[in-house]
Amino acid sequence: MALYTRESIERVRDAVDMVELVGARTDLRRVGGSYTGLCPFHEERTPSFSVNAEKKVFYCFGCGESGDAIRFVEATEALDFPAAVEMLADRYGVELRRENEDPRAEQRRRRRERLLALVERAAAYYERYLWESGDARAARDYLSGRGLGEQVLRDFRIGFSPPAWDRVVAAAGRDGYRAEELAAAGLAQPGRNGGFIDRFRGRIMFPLADARGRVLGFGARSLSEAERPKYLNTSENELYHKGRQLFGIHRARGMAAKRGRIVAVEGYTDVLALHQGGITESVAIMGTALTQEQLAELGRAAGTVYLAMDADRSGQEAMLRAARGARERDVELLVAEMPEGTDPAELVSSDGAEAFERLLDGALSVPEFEARRLVASADLRTPHGRDRAIDAARPLVGSAPANSATRDEVVRFLADKLDVEPSFLTTQIEERPIGVADRGADGARRHGAARAPRAGVSRDRDAASRKERTFIAMCLAERRHGREYLSRLDDGHLSSDAMRAVRDHVARHFDDPLVDLPADDPMLSALVTEVALRGEREASSQDALRLTFLELELQRIERELRHATRERDFERQRDLWPAREGVKVQINELMGQTQ
Ligand SMILES: [Zn+2]
Repeated sequence: MALYTRESIERVRDAVDMVELVGARTDLRRVGGSYTGLCPFHEERTPSFSVNAEKKVFYCFGCGESGDAIRFVEATEALDFPAAVEMLADRYGVELRRENEDPRAEQRRRRRERLLALVERAAAYYERYLWESGDARAARDYLSGRGLGEQVLRDFRIGFSPPAWDRVVAAAGRDGYRAEELAAAGLAQPGRNGGFIDRFRGRIMFPLADARGRVLGFGARSLSEAERPKYLNTSENELYHKGRQLFGIHRARGMAAKRGRIVAVEGYTDVLALHQGGITESVAIMGTALTQEQLAELGRAAGTVYLAMDADRSGQEAMLRAARGARERDVELLVAEMPEGTDPAELVSSDGAEAFERLLDGALSVPEFEARRLVASADLRTPHGRDRAIDAARPLVGSAPANSATRDEVVRFLADKLDVEPSFLTTQIEERPIGVADRGADGARRHGAARAPRAGVSRDRDAASRKERTFIAMCLAERRHGREYLSRLDDGHLSSDAMRAVRDHVARHFDDPLVDLPADDPMLSALVTEVALRGEREASSQDALRLTFLELELQRIERELRHATRERDFERQRDLWPAREGVKVQINELMGQTQ
């Protein structure tokens, strides 16, 4: 970044009209020799923000923010010092001088400025064309059909490119731009018959600006469904780098800095609809693949970044891949999922901006969001499906920051949905590297059970509460009361469908559980074999049966409590607490008796 001379920075400071600059952000009232208003840096009801027009400084008695015009722009626009100086120089017509610029750098800078001016001309041209040309009627109809008013379209400088072959090329040529420059700026491309033609023809033009509002390129939408591609962008060039671009960033930064959050959506019209609805801290990532550069830019704009994702899973995958990379950064990333089949623009136009705000209120951290995705896509009815879900859950839990509230929440959620003990998910991650558990035979032998019929079964058996298997084995061992206790086991006591099938089989074949083992369900066979063999070997008693049953009852109540807490079902919680206490008392009494 080139450094400007101290003298030219002083001239910028002198040229600034402080009241006008600040007045664009907050209404100012003259009080004696100064101006006061509501502070743009903190939320307040009574004015404590003061501007001294003569000395060109501001001060807030509320939050202590203070400084000169450059500091004001840095803070309200989230720009760095040189960028703030450049913006003010532009605005107040001051020519900046650079300190000792080397000739090659100066040449590059001049070329860049020339290309920027060329793109700016094109933007102004497209913009005029949208409002003034009969060719653009369909475009205007399309935009208003999406509920977008003239104000927001003008704010974002939306335009229309003429359908003719070379309007932009010809006009720029007349003003002394070379075809090579037009091509370098992404506005022209070689035609089939030699020469250059306009790159954008007959399309709605969305100017892609940098943080300071300088147009670097365009996203262009075709009007007819038949025309491909539907979206045509400026290709990578000296000015425009796709991966860095956020549509609307120049209009979102101020509010993002003030509210401490920025909202990233997928499409141009989503951003326009949100700004129109008052959520002006919104930008578009333009496509499903969020890049690390975009994430960095979002993080610079605000401490909290909301990603509003389409319900479409393939799009989410691309976004989440990048979002995982954001964990290392100093930014809080939250994901809000759009309802199936709708996008932010449709939602805002049908249900208002409040509907979108509500979605943001329900946004989740990336690990929590991924946990819900995992459960939604898993087939939890089959042991194999559960196995696979557990496989996927472990790295997911591991990816949440250790000892964080997020990890606790993810573990609670997954444990509940996958019907495993929470400690199972965490100890698996911390103590057993992924992959080791896949040696199913070892796992099975360690637990003294029959050989696992296939990989994964032993792990699933770990997952099902060991206590449940012990209890069924005890029922078989203590034959006098076992049958009756087994019949008390309802679905809520058992943490998986697999264990429920074991209970049913054992109840049907109580006298000889190893009879009629299903050939097509190796998981069930292995579990029944285990409890049957343990039932033959182990001693049991009625007290032990009672105690274990109470422990299962306690587990059941705690599982339901977790569920009720998450659902905010307070009535259910009120019922469950005394039930839990009652069971605890019984357990304590029994323990006292049996000791
Ligand atoms: Zn303040």
